[in-house]
Amino acid sequence: MATPSVSFEFFPPKSLEGSFRLWDCVNTLAPLDPTFVSVTYGAGGTTRQLTHEAVSTIHRTSGLNVAAHLTCVDATRAETLEIAQNYAEAGVREIVALRGDAPKGQAKFTAHADGFASSVELIEALAETGQFTIRVGAYPEKHPEAADQAADIAFLKRKIDAGARSAITQFFFEADTFFRFRDACAKAGITAPIIPGILPIENWNGTQKFAAQCGTHIPQVIRDAFANATRDGTTDLLATALATELCDDLVRGGVEHLHFYTLNRPELTRDVCHALGVTPKARLQNVA
Ligand code: FAD
Repeated sequence: MATPSVSFEFFPPKSLEGSFRLWDCVNTLAPLDPTFVSVTYGAGGTTRQLTHEAVSTIHRTSGLNVAAHLTCVDATRAETLEIAQNYAEAGVREIVALRGDAPKGQAKFTAHADGFASSVELIEALAETGQFTIRVGAYPEKHPEAADQAADIAFLKRKIDAGARSAITQFFFEADTFFRFRDACAKAGITAPIIPGILPIENWNGTQKFAAQCGTHIPQVIRDAFANATRDGTTDLLATALATELCDDLVRGGVEHLHFYTLNRPELTRDVCHALGVTPKARLQNVA
């Protein structure tokens, strides 16, 4: 079986303890030589400054290729493009461009009066700068706001046509879900790579809540297994086995790159990567 390339998603820390945890996460996973790592942008644009600091610090101190998430929420076009420009000046060359969700307390995304009205507009503007590799989000089980999967995929095609290089999917738990989506995207004329997003289940209760919000189906067999593992205190073992099996199926089905949602807890992701044959590489900066 071929060894996949990998990438890792982190979130920006909000406390000193969180900063140490992120640092530990970066140091644990950097030796696996990720193609890129990405840093999220808090819902409602709440971590604008923290995301910038985390992205710039990781970029400067680790030498990793860092992708900054950026959303359209609660900012003018000029403010959003200024954030992007600051990234370019810091040497950051990748952006995960998203529409984003509504700030807390609001039911639906509403564009800022002077802001980007959709992810497509943001992607077009970023592409026009010519400074970034742009990645976007994709939804194998349909975005909750999409009328149906065909409409969702048609919208994804608009995002790719606007200048995105690849799409990273929402997490899912069955390889066939991804393969069906990949086939439907290909049929709709999308040729850009679709990168599966993998969530090793670090927190079973949190995962169930998050999956319900995103419309991600959790198979009954996984629910039963976690009920038993919770009783036996073996949830980490189960989570590692399930994520490894999912990744293994994906790679056997032709997937070349896997993106891991680490939630700033590196151990499960590291163990899954090791099981897939993604093992530490000596990095030039450590040898020189
Ligand atoms: P879009 O793809 O722009 O819209 C979602 C769907 O809604 C579309 O697929 C389409 O079906 C429909 N739709 C939207 N606009 C239109 C339109 N004008 N016409 C027709 N249909 C339309 N959120 C954060 O706040 N911060 C993050 O850092 C973050 N990172 C993420 C990373 C990944 C890989 C993913 C998959 C999601 C992430 N999210 C993040 C969540 C994301 O912001 C939400 O899912 C949001 O609701 C949609 O953003 P999007 O850019 O994917 O949306």
